[in-house]
Amino acid sequence: MAEMGLTPTDRWHLLGKHGCHYVESAEFVETWAFDELELTHPEWGSLGVPSEPGGPDARWCRHCKDTIEDMRSRRYNAIGNMKSQVPYRDISWQTIDCAGDCPWCGKAVSATQYDDDLNETVCPACAWQYNNGPDVEDPPETDLRQEKPTDEVDPVRYTYYTGNAERPHDEPSPSESRERARQRAADEQRPYVEVKIKGKYADVVCDIAGTGHRFTPAAIEEIEALQAEQKDKTDADPDHKSYVRTDVGPQGTHVRTVTIFPDDARPHADDLAAIAADPSNWQ
Ligand SMILES: [Zn+2]
Ligand SMILES: [Zn+2]
Repeated sequence: MAEMGLTPTDRWHLLGKHGCHYVESAEFVETWAFDELELTHPEWGSLGVPSEPGGPDARWCRHCKDTIEDMRSRRYNAIGNMKSQVPYRDISWQTIDCAGDCPWCGKAVSATQYDDDLNETVCPACAWQYNNGPDVEDPPETDLRQEKPTDEVDPVRYTYYTGNAERPHDEPSPSESRERARQRAADEQRPYVEVKIKGKYADVVCDIAGTGHRFTPAAIEEIEALQAEQKDKTDADPDHKSYVRTDVGPQGTHVRTVTIFPDDARPHADDLAAIAADPSNWQ
């Protein structure tokens, strides 16, 4: 179960895997299991703190609150995605021994709710939200989910040059257009990884929508760590005069790292391709 701790300054922080980087001391006056459902206002859905320990001004630390909001938006998207692919509703979740991190929202050591039809084990908050959250417009009548392959799936790779950037002489030109390459990835249910060299800078895109799956929270964390590495690297380089933008799309299928150096873009694309190729990173 994820945990939370109260500091003498009346701020609640997350502990353990989601541990806060902004709390200086480890002097927690109180630690609790982070029971999200118990702390959620039944009507408004807002997240509160336990009422007993701490003064009347006890609140969540701003950064930890962001971490929780991230979990919640991942949950929202994962459930929407699931409901658009399966007919099962009003699930009678079974409580089982904890099966690790929640695959939907990513909450640490909290997956205790299992369902046979869905074949998923998720945290209590995700289980509750599945039954009580919004539905999709046209729920499917059959289970549309695609079986995950057991072996790695080679991504379709594409590198192209725009503006004054030119392809090196020793690099073979692609035999198809960019649109065709994208379409081929979807047709062949493979990930797609693209490098766009714009001159001084380059952009990298990695997309697994064509596989019919999305990245697991663990894979997204790994991707975000790689993106953070790229940011730190360019921030430290005075020759980099632009801003590195990174994002992982809300559907959990599309990743972008924008305005890095071409020499960094190629290995970064290789790293993303390795993650995308591995079906254990899909859900
Ligand atoms: Zn915190
Ligand atoms: Zn969850």
